Amino acid sequence: MSLHRHHSRAEKFTLDSAFDSGMGTIPKHTLPSGTQDADAAMQFIRNELMLDGNARQNLATFVTTWMEPQAAELIQASLEKNIIDKDEYPQSAEIERRCVNMLANLWHAPEPAGDAGAMGCSTTGSSEAAMLAGLALKWRWRARREAAGLDASKPNLVMGANVQVCWEKFARYWDVEARLIPLEGATHLTAVQAAAACDENTIGVVAVLGSTFDGSYEPVTEIAAALNELAASTGLDVPMHVDAASGGFIAPFLDTELLWDFRLERVKSINASGHKYGLVYPGVGWVLWRSTQELPEDLIFSVDYLGGSMPTFALNFSRPAAQVIAQYYTLVRYGFDGFQSIQSRCREIAGAIATGVEGMGPFTLLSRGNELPVVAFELTAPDGYSVYDLSHELRSFGWIVPAYPMPEGMADVHVLRVVVRNGFTFDLAAMFLADLAKSVARLSGQRDERVGFHH
Ligand SMILES: *Cc1c(COP(=O)(O)O)cnc(C)c1O
Repeated sequence: MSLHRHHSRAEKFTLDSAFDSGMGTIPKHTLPSGTQDADAAMQFIRNELMLDGNARQNLATFVTTWMEPQAAELIQASLEKNIIDKDEYPQSAEIERRCVNMLANLWHAPEPAGDAGAMGCSTTGSSEAAMLAGLALKWRWRARREAAGLDASKPNLVMGANVQVCWEKFARYWDVEARLIPLEGATHLTAVQAAAACDENTIGVVAVLGSTFDGSYEPVTEIAAALNELAASTGLDVPMHVDAASGGFIAPFLDTELLWDFRLERVKSINASGHKYGLVYPGVGWVLWRSTQELPEDLIFSVDYLGGSMPTFALNFSRPAAQVIAQYYTLVRYGFDGFQSIQSRCREIAGAIATGVEGMGPFTLLSRGNELPVVAFELTAPDGYSVYDLSHELRSFGWIVPAYPMPEGMADVHVLRVVVRNGFTFDLAAMFLADLAKSVARLSGQRDERVGFHH
């Protein structure tokens, strides 16, 4: 989490309490010496939290900002459960197991044969999932190298410069060279680039199903085919991991013909964020391996479970079970049909935003929401203002829309990005487009009479 500095001990807050006779103060940076009234303390913190953004107008995040009240009730009812206490909460463990199985089937894991079926676990999010999947790749590669009596000191991981920062983190924390391929001719990694970047020290190739920069799918099938060819022609047998943080809960419902998952032999592991299009509040991700062989045994630790032991793979020990339970709720509650209609609605709304943005004039679309429901667009020609100015202007209407440069290879392209999530509506999309048009008008100097300042 954010790293924070130690600050002055002297600063104080006033506790404005309707339940208390006086207005007490509490120190800002040292533990208060006395106790506070519970209601006063809660109200004080609530007041502070009002300053956070309005989640529904936050078009920046992929992470779920709305769940049904029934889900919130289940979460509330399981707040005390610790997912690592398998012995104390066997039913939570059972629920996690069912979720893993549902995902294994959704992602077309091969039918389990003996001990060799798919395996997986919940994680804090896709970042932890990426660490675990990356570690498995590194361990497997090292074992192959050592068994062959070859040097195993310079592992690298091949991926597009558009990968999410968690992969750079994985590489740095676990001493792997991040072989980030600059974008060329596409907004993401291409098959030719991926195969060309591999060598004997490549622990794997990461393909992203749903780039965070523009929502585009990387060509997983083509990358797998290129790696198959590489294996056939050079003997370099490089495994693939698919980072389906967002796409793992979109493609199975909307792109059923698209081969991106365990149907491709080369895909050895997949991660997804339950708290993105898995429709759960922040705190849950998933990682699955196509077979037990892909997950080295010395990465697995056992915890007590009903008088026996249960294998676990995680960076944390304790973690809330509530999010896993909430994930099970979304899977049971929506089923295939429900997920399909929610995600297709998101895609339709993203499409409507893309059409609206395109029709406005000054923009060129990089994506139109037909893969992830994400629309990224740039200003076609400079007009005295930038996408950063537009982002700032939209903020005055309450909309949070990030502006940023594309990754290396396209770094001169600066975009705005709108992420459509469950809970966003056609009405909100229309309001957003109207406010975007006003922002453009303000910035390009053609002040709209109604919003402008009258001299
Ligand atoms: C969001 C995201 C991640 C990180 O996932 P968290 O669940 O936020 O940890 C990794 N990869 C991609 C493609 C993402 O979109």
